[in-house]
Amino acid sequence: MSQFVVSARKYRPKTFDEVVGQSHVASTLKNALQKDQLAHAYLFTGPHGVGKTTCARLLAKVLNCQNITEGQNPCNTCSSCEAFSNSASFNIIELDAASNNSVEHMRSLIEQVRFQPQEGKYKIFIIDEVHMLSTSAFNAFLKTLEEPPSYAIFILATTEKHKIIPTILSRCQIYDFKRIQNNDIIEQLSNIAEKENLKYEPEALNIIAEKADGAMRDALSIFDRIVSSSNGTIEYKSVLENLNILDYEYYFKMIDSAIQEDLASVILHFHEVLNNGFEPAIFLKGMLEHLRKLLLAKNEKTLSLLTVGPELKERYVNQAMLTSSSFVLTSLNLINNAEIALQRASNKIITSEIALSKMTFFNRIEDLSKKKRTALN
Ligand SMILES: [Zn+2]
Repeated sequence: MSQFVVSARKYRPKTFDEVVGQSHVASTLKNALQKDQLAHAYLFTGPHGVGKTTCARLLAKVLNCQNITEGQNPCNTCSSCEAFSNSASFNIIELDAASNNSVEHMRSLIEQVRFQPQEGKYKIFIIDEVHMLSTSAFNAFLKTLEEPPSYAIFILATTEKHKIIPTILSRCQIYDFKRIQNNDIIEQLSNIAEKENLKYEPEALNIIAEKADGAMRDALSIFDRIVSSSNGTIEYKSVLENLNILDYEYYFKMIDSAIQEDLASVILHFHEVLNNGFEPAIFLKGMLEHLRKLLLAKNEKTLSLLTVGPELKERYVNQAMLTSSSFVLTSLNLINNAEIALQRASNKIITSEIALSKMTFFNRIEDLSKKKRTALN
């Protein structure tokens, strides 16, 4: 099979209309362009992989385009657009503050602010992960931001808006990028699959979208990984295998069954997992993570630590409400001990089944120990 071109690069949006899941940002930017209401500084904030840098580059491109389209998109054919597309433009300077955050890095950027654009109207400076700049770099930048030359436009991007000092915030037009909805990710992936003549099972794209957790960039890199090891068909089963992940559905189902003391279902779900080629160790690890999420979902304060999409979060909250804290804590303990014991166990399946049985009959064990304590008193 021929080398698959990394779709993140190949399908990077060339117009604002192609940007997935950020139509509110795209339309506001297009409006501003149409009315010629340009700011000197923009701040693009939002989670990683949702299109901040892509939009920054698009804005940079359209600002210098010689034939902006009616829809306020770059023409993608003029000499300026071509230079941008080939990363050969002198009018765009990018700094990744995650790895270049010192005052020296900032000084060399500021140095370039002094020179007028060679061709086109604007010189655009994109600073990615701007919150990672050192304090001295921030201060050096602030002076430039206070009195920028007319041709300079700064586009700052960050995943952590709260770390940006108010003096910078007050000078920027702020755009909040959203996590991309699963449906939008699925639609984009299916479009790419069709263009690449790839077949797919809808559930396969669904699981990629869920695992990408709102980040298109992550979805595309998982997609590429799966495609490069497939024979032209993206199958749900191979996605799970490829990512070596267990569908969280198993865990939701298993906890539901355990709450109802339905041991038969718990054991059958466990064997379904084994039949799908997963080792007991991977299963127990996933169960620990699931229980931990339930524990976090039990309290509003810890809920913020749950890094899953809103729909999935709601499912954890709902299941957490059905369980008692002592059930979750005891189960965590049981599964944790089983995972440790697994390394020395002669039969890993039995060790896992014992832990699952104890978890399922948690209430009875609890009652039994209460009776024992009463008897002793
Ligand atoms: Zn152009």
